[in-house]
Amino acid sequence: MTTLLIATRNAHKVGEIRAILGAGFQFLTLKDFPNAPAVVEDAATFAGNATKKAVELARWLTLPNSECGMRNAELNFVLADDSGLEVDALNGAPGVHSARFAALDKMANSTDADNNAKLLHLLKDVPLEKRTARFRCAIALTPTEIRPEKSPSPESASPVCYANQFDAQTQIIFEGACEGRIQLAASGAGGFGYDPLFVPDGFTQSFAELGEDVKNKLSHRAKALAKLKEFFTTK
Ligand code: IMP
Repeated sequence: MTTLLIATRNAHKVGEIRAILGAGFQFLTLKDFPNAPAVVEDAATFAGNATKKAVELARWLTLPNSECGMRNAELNFVLADDSGLEVDALNGAPGVHSARFAALDKMANSTDADNNAKLLHLLKDVPLEKRTARFRCAIALTPTEIRPEKSPSPESASPVCYANQFDAQTQIIFEGACEGRIQLAASGAGGFGYDPLFVPDGFTQSFAELGEDVKNKLSHRAKALAKLKEFFTTK
């Protein structure tokens, strides 16, 4: 059984990743590591940000004051997802800034409602046929090893953490994209982020209306995770 630490605080992403990967994996999330550092996502690409999140977390896990020694589970990989929306009429925006599109001058994320409102406003004069867009997802997988020390000596009562091979060279990146368009108004209550505005190609309803079973078969995340699954099957 492979244990993955999903490096996100986004509960929707965690839910989708767990549902798509399913049996064969055990999952930890940042909820299990409440003191994990927040990573500044300032890379120019989704792959760059995903790598940064995975590597920084893997490094932190080796520090004596991280919480890894408190885990009984053996952790095999850190998995970090970086994703977002590219809209052709906006030259690819919001792109890597998708999470804080409505507050680009701040480092903090903006709400989904504010981001969607800004997107609709910017596209108000763009006709439907020109509102083509895609979601992109990059997943970085960083090998990590965390083992509680088998027989701690009395003077070192706390477990020891080991981590290996998590520098940038050892990153494995899986990418996926899902083509579609931005509809004229939001619809649907499922999903998260830009889901109420995004209608995937071949459908007339938004991701938020189609529901998680459909979304998890054709989304950018589903495509990237299918490659990750394939990697574990052939490993
Ligand atoms: P990240 O957590 O930095 O990767 O930010 C991802 C942002 O992109 C989210 O906050 C959403 O705004 C958007 N996003 C990524 N994936 C999805 C998706 O599956 N549906 C809707 N919005 C998404």
